Amino acid sequence: MALIVQKYGGTSVGNPERIKNVARKVAKFQAQGHQVVVVVSAISGETNRLIALAKEVAATPDPRELDVVVSTGEQVTIGLLCMALHDIGVKAKSYTGGQVRILTDSAHTKARILNIDEAPIKKDLDEGNIVVVAGFQGVDEHGAITTLGRGGSDTTGVALAAALKADECQIYTDVDGVYTTDPRVVPEARKLDTITFEEMLELASLGSKVLQIRSVEFAGKYKVKLRVLSSFQEEGEGTLITVEEDQNMEQPVISGIAFNRDEAKLTVLGVPDKPGIAYQILGPVADANIEVDMIIQNVSKDGTTDFSFTVARGELDKAVAVLEAVKEHIGARSIVTDRTMAKVSIVGVGMRSHAGVASQMFRTLAEEGINIQMISTSEIKISVAIEEKYLELAVRVLHKAFGLDVAA
Ligand code: ADP
Ligand code: ASP
Ligand code: MG
Repeated sequence: MALIVQKYGGTSVGNPERIKNVARKVAKFQAQGHQVVVVVSAISGETNRLIALAKEVAATPDPRELDVVVSTGEQVTIGLLCMALHDIGVKAKSYTGGQVRILTDSAHTKARILNIDEAPIKKDLDEGNIVVVAGFQGVDEHGAITTLGRGGSDTTGVALAAALKADECQIYTDVDGVYTTDPRVVPEARKLDTITFEEMLELASLGSKVLQIRSVEFAGKYKVKLRVLSSFQEEGEGTLITVEEDQNMEQPVISGIAFNRDEAKLTVLGVPDKPGIAYQILGPVADANIEVDMIIQNVSKDGTTDFSFTVARGELDKAVAVLEAVKEHIGARSIVTDRTMAKVSIVGVGMRSHAGVASQMFRTLAEEGINIQMISTSEIKISVAIEEKYLELAVRVLHKAFGLDVAA
């Protein structure tokens, strides 16, 4: 007998028929003799709807109250799934994050899980129940409802699996595993049987939303066996996230391509080229809690230089306002922005032992006439910022150039 945590995403519980389908799948596992804890997301589109609703009432909703509103999506699906389970004769109990005491910090809309009290869940399981827990939410020390950031139900699933020392955490979604890139953009993308934690962390942080990055971090830290599978297929092993590279296989240089449309670039023109200037520009941006991604500083001419960096598109206006306020003090000439940037990243542990990966990436993009505006690298990834209109083309040609279309 195994203890399994299964998480079903928004599309997988997208309508009554699909909720009944999830109930059947869960019941089947229990009938095989396993104990099952289920985590569900809100019905797809519901979280967006709730955020939009809040913004109609207040342009910048209070984060504590926003969490009260957006967490309701998951409360609906836990109840519906339990009803569907009861309907087919299966004992099941639902819990919100607060009820099952998923204790988080108080960082509303992006809270982190601190502790989970697993004893009551274990008791319910031992009494023959399926335990259904709302994803994406918790409660802080003051009893306030918190949420874990978009895609956070993945993290609820993994955190519960860690707390319960589950044999496996299964993330059921609308694709049958982790692909070489988003299969909705590149139809030739291939499903991977395994991918290392390191690579999955990079892919998730660089824009592949198949797993929330915190869920991957959590699984790595607490050694949770993590698998991504389809909720619409009966069979299939999905993709297992592994600690070790598979030593028996010839490793491809690149394992996957991630992308993010949500970038915007700011350039501060004509700043004096002197020590401290990067700090004077980025210090106020950091103080305003705006995350900076890629950065470049040009060579100086006549003692001045241009300094560019990217931020999430939704934060561009805020970043511009911050810089306009300090522009004169810094001695900058002007600030220009580009709202339509995108980032494409190639990821692979095989990069460590291969030279020439960057040049192959740059040549491939050059052959399509795609201008690279910024570059950043780490040991196992290379990212470039390009104009958004070239994003899909870039991903497709890179996917082909690095041999990801053909099975390894
Ligand atoms: P859920 O609602 O189940 O949490 P998400 O929409 O959050 O599902 O994540 C699944 C989606 O992630 C897929 O439909 C796919 O479009 C997208 N995706 C992006 N990159 C990848 C990738 N490398 N492999 C698989 N899916 C990916
Ligand atoms: N419902 C939340 C969201 O849409 C959490 C999740 O689906 O994982 O972001
Ligand atoms: Mg998701």
